[in-house]
Amino acid sequence: MESLGPDAEGLSMKTRILVILSLVVTIAVGVGYTQRATIAERLMALALPKQMGTNQVETLQDGLHVVLCGAGGPMPAPRASGPCVGIVAGEQLFIVDTGTDSTRNLQRLGYPPGRIEAVFLTHFHSDHIDGLGELATIRWATGDGVTPLPVYGPEGVDRVVAGFNAAYAQDFVYRHDHHGDLAAPLAAAGITAMPFEAPPEGELTTVFEGSGVTVEALRVDHAPVSPAVGYRFRYGGRTVLISGDTAQSDNISRFARGADLLIHEALSPELIGMMEATANTLGNPIVAKIMFDVPDYHASPREAAETALEAGVGHLLYYHVVPPIVVPGQETLWLNGAGEIFPDYTVGYDGVSFSLPVNSTEIIQTRTGM
Ligand SMILES: [Zn+2]
Ligand SMILES: [Zn+2]
Repeated sequence: MESLGPDAEGLSMKTRILVILSLVVTIAVGVGYTQRATIAERLMALALPKQMGTNQVETLQDGLHVVLCGAGGPMPAPRASGPCVGIVAGEQLFIVDTGTDSTRNLQRLGYPPGRIEAVFLTHFHSDHIDGLGELATIRWATGDGVTPLPVYGPEGVDRVVAGFNAAYAQDFVYRHDHHGDLAAPLAAAGITAMPFEAPPEGELTTVFEGSGVTVEALRVDHAPVSPAVGYRFRYGGRTVLISGDTAQSDNISRFARGADLLIHEALSPELIGMMEATANTLGNPIVAKIMFDVPDYHASPREAAETALEAGVGHLLYYHVVPPIVVPGQETLWLNGAGEIFPDYTVGYDGVSFSLPVNSTEIIQTRTGM
């Protein structure tokens, strides 16, 4: 008879080890599951000080810094929230446009809304302003509460601001009744409009100056939306220009000349064309009409690259990325060869950040996303 001795013993030893291991894992999972609240509590106690105490504005070195608190346009996307650019100049935090989720992204990224000095609106399309009420509220409730949020914008900003203040008027009272003067003083609730006249093509208007930072507005081409402006930030010998929404514009290449960073919107007419064709196939003429209309008041990635090349900027950061890029190969499709026109570029996603230290030529990407 054939002996089963050593093999059978080996097999039973392996089986025993497997049984013991699976028992240990089962017990560990069981204990972990029954103790999940305790474990979560310990993890929270460890993580909260870091999460609640992070303040990027205080940790950054002296310079001009940029964070995309919203890299997209009006379409929903996992990594491209509504348009929002955070600028840190020295110790001052500014926000350009306040799209959907901008306040939440700022908090996730460690930029305390309570530290915001001012907001600059490029124009009043809904996707650029829909987060304004929440931004002002969180700033009020978490900041030093001395003044309402100053919101700069061209003609028409006072109407937008008055509307938000009216919509939030009851909330001001609720929060003041509940939290009192320390956390929610009524004198600091809401928003103050800081209107300026949009300059004509070829001219800049200085709209803010203080603690070494200069913010200038320039007219861009987003017709029939008028006025529509971009903003140029200068601090410590470094320059960033944010296009706002615009078709390809000579005014941007003029005023971005020699800038370190050009943050330019872009929309792919080819991909929007695919969406228009799909809407037609699906029998949806309303969506098809919108898709037909939108390319004429936005720049394509190739046009933004041409502007960057003409201006001789240090780096081009695409934002207001439309349509959203959701799979890796789509980025190449979206760019449609723009990288060959201007190779020093980054396609923006939520959280992408750059630092420009004072008195240097360095352009450092400090984050690639959230
Ligand atoms: Zn837009
Ligand atoms: Zn727009």
